[in-house]
Amino acid sequence: MPSVLLASRNRKKLAELQRVVDAAGITGLDVLGLDAVPEYPEEPETGATFEANALIKAHAGARATGLPCLADDSGISVDALNGMPGVLSARWSGSHGDDPANNALLLAQLSDIPDERRGAAFVSACALVLPGGDETVVRGEWRGRVLRVERGPHGFGYDPLFAPDDEVAAGRSAAELSPQEKDALSHRGKALAQLVPALRALAG
Ligand code: IMP
Repeated sequence: MPSVLLASRNRKKLAELQRVVDAAGITGLDVLGLDAVPEYPEEPETGATFEANALIKAHAGARATGLPCLADDSGISVDALNGMPGVLSARWSGSHGDDPANNALLLAQLSDIPDERRGAAFVSACALVLPGGDETVVRGEWRGRVLRVERGPHGFGYDPLFAPDDEVAAGRSAAELSPQEKDALSHRGKALAQLVPALRALAG
């Protein structure tokens, strides 16, 4: 069966890609994570943009494994911080992937910012690179605002601090949405939706 590699160790991202493939009715495509292929040296994310980093990761995976490779690079861009943390979202507090420290730092930085200037967007760039080197890169954005306290048990990263604009009436944070509800609205959901035709083509 044809397969596509997702260059990520994040199980939630792998599950999300699998849900997109299933929801699109694509059968006959194996979705693999990095744990399913022999280890290869992962390249540092040195790009200045989400797109550049997604392409770095997807090219490295396709080169090392000979499989079509999909990679996502994502983060939160806060208006009052001129778009930061941006590509530095995962290591904003200085240590990579420390969600509680990243969230605490963001809250402290925004403590004097009034509600009307707490706008932000989650951004995801997804790159699909074929073994021959052909590349497609797409972007999804999800607007909202940064809360003053963490709320909600689901999701990861900055989700408990992010109130999506689509949810203003219900007042829920991204971490209060079910995984399916988040897929339907999120930056990554919007980016991955644009790759459905290319994924369908891979399935043959
Ligand atoms: P990446 O895994 O290198 O793309 O890093 C993305 C970072 O951005 C994560 O560590 C999170 O802090 C943040 N991030 C990206 N997408 C999301 C999301 O859907 N919810 C919450 N945080 C996110």
